[in-house]
Amino acid sequence: MFLNPKKINKILEELNPDRIYVENIRHILGTNTRFAKWVCDIAVRNGYLKKFYAIECPNSNCNRIIQTYSSLDKIPDELTCFMCEDDGLEKSTFLKKNLNIIPFYKYVKGSYQFA
Ligand SMILES: [Zn+2]
Repeated sequence: MFLNPKKINKILEELNPDRIYVENIRHILGTNTRFAKWVCDIAVRNGYLKKFYAIECPNSNCNRIIQTYSSLDKIPDELTCFMCEDDGLEKSTFLKKNLNIIPFYKYVKGSYQFA
């Protein structure tokens, strides 16, 4: 087994359980992105993690997370960054295709027994 309980505990300790990115997993496992994605997908299938999508504001001086969704279908065709709108920026509403969509995972509480 490539993922022993000790390693999983270590991963969970080091991460914000509500916001786990593939990059975090990749870094902790010391592996490549593809493998880290695969690990995340397995964890989702086993009910340890839930997948979400964070929408990042494409304005380079903002880059805030505008909203998060539990599935790609739920993302509306147009989204407004209210921070940018408040700042009076000309561009604060964006088409879905221009948004940065960043998948992340949440740890499902109680799904994993700590050793
Ligand atoms: Zn913004």
